[in-house]
Amino acid sequence: MTGVRSLLPEGQPGLLVSPVFGAEPYRDAEDLAGYLAVGGYAPLTARDRLLDRIAAVGLRGRGGAGFPTAVKLSAVRDAPGRPVVVANGEEGEPGSVKDRWLLRHRPHLILDGLRLAAALTGAEHGVVYLSDTRAEQAVRQALAERLAGLRVDVVRTDHTYVAGEETAVVRRIEGGPALPTAKPPRPFEAGVGGAPTLVANVETLARIAVMHACPDAAGAVAGAHLVTLAGAGGAAALAEVPAGTHLKILADLCGHGRAEAVLLGGLFGGLYGAGWTDLPLDHDLLQAAGGALGCGALHFLGPDDCPVAAATEATAYLAAQSARQCGVCVSGTGALAGTLAAVARGEAGDAAADKLHRWSRQLPGRGACGLLDAAARIVSTLLAHFPGRIDAHRGATCPACAGPAPHDGRRFTVPVP
Ligand code: SF4
Repeated sequence: MTGVRSLLPEGQPGLLVSPVFGAEPYRDAEDLAGYLAVGGYAPLTARDRLLDRIAAVGLRGRGGAGFPTAVKLSAVRDAPGRPVVVANGEEGEPGSVKDRWLLRHRPHLILDGLRLAAALTGAEHGVVYLSDTRAEQAVRQALAERLAGLRVDVVRTDHTYVAGEETAVVRRIEGGPALPTAKPPRPFEAGVGGAPTLVANVETLARIAVMHACPDAAGAVAGAHLVTLAGAGGAAALAEVPAGTHLKILADLCGHGRAEAVLLGGLFGGLYGAGWTDLPLDHDLLQAAGGALGCGALHFLGPDDCPVAAATEATAYLAAQSARQCGVCVSGTGALAGTLAAVARGEAGDAAADKLHRWSRQLPGRGACGLLDAAARIVSTLLAHFPGRIDAHRGATCPACAGPAPHDGRRFTVPVP
């Protein structure tokens, strides 16, 4: 994949390129002087007012789950003990680049959001959690520029699909492997060192910082999403768009106009065929349609793409990324990926579709993290939206499915702009 546009041109119909994250692509990291010049690090004089504003505009977390941010902040603030706040910049979805882009280019925005989250919860210790080397350099440079403020550590992890899951984040910060743990407790109850811990996606923190600097724009800031768009022969793009934007508009504006299907939420939100053009970018409406917005990464499939091949590669990647802690995940993702691979090769027996149907209903919710759910949703949506394409593979050779499915997620991987 070549050339990635970091933001769409200003003024495109139906798209918001707001001052939230800059109308210009940031070629280098924004420095302290640049951030102060746009109103950054303004003193927080009315803590409750900012929390009320976050609640009133309904800001939701941008890591994938879409949990209400004000509820999470309040839960951490009200839990017994001195809280810890974490800026989670480890985006495990191969098709998402927004978090690394923010850390690399707007590190002060993230640190300002972390400062405000600490003030809102009463935390005296912050952590920036990441795996990207350029992001780490930008964050360390930004920390060195600050004159004073919250004590902030930078903790690195290896880049894996599950390393950004909130309990994996806590485990890694405590010196362990970046692997999810059983819940409860959730980090807001007992996280780093047993303290109530806010694990907040970096885009969420960035939006808190902008809502503080620009209170009049809080509604628009809370409603906008950073989305990574790729596939269907178009260039990959990182765009900031309002909630509710129809996916067809995104596809057309980003050069994916021949798209016939879409994989939502990175690998988390399912595969959609007929009717995908009517789907809006909205947590609740996508969930009602059986999908998930997740981190906001969209991978479009064009007329030359085989949805069976895409689903096979996605499940092969997820099976390879399983942390192999939960028996049901090891056997479940392996069975889904293996059976789908047999379908793709035209070697599956008569019972394959029935097995895939059954497993994709039985497996969700049974792992310690969302990886197993992601694999099951890809299979269930493939079955629901492309039954004819599955039938067409029976005993036949599909040119798009020839050869073993790669396990490294290369089809979905987008370079960071
Ligand atoms: S569900 Fe899978 S990836 Fe998640 S913790 Fe369990 S074994 Fe690891």
